Amino acid sequence: MRHWLEAGSGELAAFMAETEEPAWRAEQFRCWLHQKRTGDFAAMKNLPETLRLRLAEAGRLRVLDERDSRSSADGLTRKLLFAAPGEALVECVLIIEKRRSRRTACLSCMAGCPLGCRFCATGSGGFVRNLSGGEMVEQAYRLDALAHGTGKSGISHVVFMGMGEPLLNLDAVLAAIDRLADPDGLGLSGRRITLSTAGVPEGVARLAESGRNFRLALSLHAPDQKLREWLMPAACRWPLAEVMAAVDRFAAAASRDVTYEYCLIDGVNSSPAQAGKLARLLSGRRGKVNIIPLNPVPGNEFRPPPPASTHRFQATLKAAGIPCTVRMEKGSEIGAACGQLRAGAEAPVRE
Ligand code: SF4
Repeated sequence: MRHWLEAGSGELAAFMAETEEPAWRAEQFRCWLHQKRTGDFAAMKNLPETLRLRLAEAGRLRVLDERDSRSSADGLTRKLLFAAPGEALVECVLIIEKRRSRRTACLSCMAGCPLGCRFCATGSGGFVRNLSGGEMVEQAYRLDALAHGTGKSGISHVVFMGMGEPLLNLDAVLAAIDRLADPDGLGLSGRRITLSTAGVPEGVARLAESGRNFRLALSLHAPDQKLREWLMPAACRWPLAEVMAAVDRFAAAASRDVTYEYCLIDGVNSSPAQAGKLARLLSGRRGKVNIIPLNPVPGNEFRPPPPASTHRFQATLKAAGIPCTVRMEKGSEIGAACGQLRAGAEAPVRE
């Protein structure tokens, strides 16, 4: 059954035409969906009861059932775990950055992930199913309510960096982005929406052709194909040269810098020689590197490097003229890294 939060104006208008309702009913319904965000058809008092019944038969307003909610000690990272239809557990995170006045919603596009990256709790937990665009918008609206509840305003940015690979569920992700950008919804401009990918060249090419103007982040994590394949087994399907060429075309078409995400893992991809190799790979490309010291996953042997190694890695890139920042760890005590809350929910209880 469809999720009404992903329906665009055309779909709502077509539904009203099919049910022989006047076209302006679509606008009334949109207002309930995206401005008032009601989860109950019965509350839509300006719609006739017969229409409300038909809308209820044809689609859902909410499908995510909250199972867990955690907040970091400083209250700046909030994580929600939902049960979705099809025995799917889905996570999303609100990250508040007071200094930059940002309230970022990190959304999942899949329940689980088929890519199986070695350092990722989601990857080791397997893949359940793709999420619909409506399920992604619903995560954003839940986090928006949470952001409003913390005080001032709602979410200012959205990143698709939660569970799953957005370019393997691209139609649904684009439908969600269209709703999030809609002035009736969150009204986010393209520069406030970031799509993070492990690098699916044909998906990146579709993005470049789509003409949509959001930001792209490439999860690079290694400076060469061999190490990348080891860390991210699915990368064997996507040669690094092809990935980089596709990303270059996106950057040119969208006139946007790209962020290269680099999860720093002690003794794996963190040496000065690897920093030098990364600098050579990115030399002449537009964008910056975001170094993310690994958020350790329980049961996994990987660890973040000591701070001195992280600074040395960053200094090597900077000396080579590559812009880079180090992302401070957020929410490690609440399992804020992708997939950790789900892993906890699925872990057998020890007697
Ligand atoms: S890091 Fe991203 S792409 Fe890799 S397994 Fe985790 S969710 Fe999937």
